[in-house]
Amino acid sequence: MIPGVRLVLLGRQGAGKGTQCVRLARHFVVPHLSTGDMLRSAVSEGTDFGRKAKEYMDSGDLLPDDVMVGMVAERLGRDDSSRRGFILDGFPRTVGQAEALAEITVEKPLDAVIDLEVPEDVVIQRISKRRVCKDCGTNYSVDTPPRYDWTCDNCGGEVVQRDDDTEEAIRHRLDLYREHTEPLIAWYEHRLLLVAVDGLGHPDEVTRRLIRAVDGRTRPVVG
Ligand code: AMP
Repeated sequence: MIPGVRLVLLGRQGAGKGTQCVRLARHFVVPHLSTGDMLRSAVSEGTDFGRKAKEYMDSGDLLPDDVMVGMVAERLGRDDSSRRGFILDGFPRTVGQAEALAEITVEKPLDAVIDLEVPEDVVIQRISKRRVCKDCGTNYSVDTPPRYDWTCDNCGGEVVQRDDDTEEAIRHRLDLYREHTEPLIAWYEHRLLLVAVDGLGHPDEVTRRLIRAVDGRTRPVVG
């Protein structure tokens, strides 16, 4: 029986979290919960909430903690994640969010928090080359485009550059990461949950490292 897992992935934008989370979610058979993807789908649905979220996202700013905590609490309360677990990508991003997550998961605590380490100059390069499918979120790069004319190999959607992947917005997001999210590394280290994993190298090798890091921290699924 494949064990479930309750995992958070930290790492700078462009560290490869999205790609690796999809693979880990498949490996451990748990949902991949990306707050960025949740927000982008609200934006494409054109709801009032989506319109407000887009303003923050386009400038690279963080949405308020209470909004994000509400969204994640609701998602974690659903059957799939409360039973087998989840892989959280893009949350928490502030100490306030981490404190709220500890309360939400008090009965079934996290197994581990991974810090996927990639230096800042490498992620700036990667993000400026990043292209993403508008429909399913699959990541590409100008170096590894889809097979046919910026049409997603996975779903046929249009592959584009994200609105918030401009150089200015990237630098702003990295500043916010340093200020608000990096302190979480010490926060989780103190709680004996942090595992640092080198995010450089071929994506398959990084996946193997991540699985090795998570194995041994997983638990059997109960109930
Ligand atoms: P991402 O795809 O994770 O880079 O997220 C894209 C954007 O969504 C971020 O730049 C923020 O504007 C917003 N966002 C995603 N997750 C969070 C979060 N946990 N807290 C605040 N804002 C978030």
